[in-house]
Amino acid sequence: MDLEEWRYNFQSEADGLLHGDTWNLEFDYSIQPERSQRGWKEYITRTSARFWCSLCPRGWPSNRVMVLFHMRLKGRTGTVKVRGFGQSCQNCSDAQMEDPSIDPENITILMKNLVTKIRIKCYKEGLDVFEYHQINLEVNSSHDPDNCEGCREGICTN
Ligand SMILES: [Zn+2]
Ligand SMILES: [Zn+2]
Repeated sequence: MDLEEWRYNFQSEADGLLHGDTWNLEFDYSIQPERSQRGWKEYITRTSARFWCSLCPRGWPSNRVMVLFHMRLKGRTGTVKVRGFGQSCQNCSDAQMEDPSIDPENITILMKNLVTKIRIKCYKEGLDVFEYHQINLEVNSSHDPDNCEGCREGICTN
């Protein structure tokens, strides 16, 4: 995941919608689902991504990639922490969790949904709870829970 790309997308989707406050986005792989700190709001969603093994040439697409956001507004400054859940290679016994590589159009969809969640959860705007759906990739193999970090943490959904 490329931080600058996420920040750019977030700022353009948030433009004019977050009450003139300053919001920053950062990656944080230590955040845990359903264990947000006091004052932080949570949003868990799903997207599509590609993965590449760092030990062999194998790559694979997945439509079950969980993304966790923790958001907090403090005074006039907001912070969003993002964690993308990894997957590991089925072919390599020592495979590590690889970072998801998410297409730009799906990052845009994530950011549109995130901005709506911030407006509802941090600004108490009475918006309809509507989510744009991810653009699916063509996936020919079934989901592999043993190699999915979201499954291991019990948050991976269909
Ligand atoms: Zn591999
Ligand atoms: Zn899973």
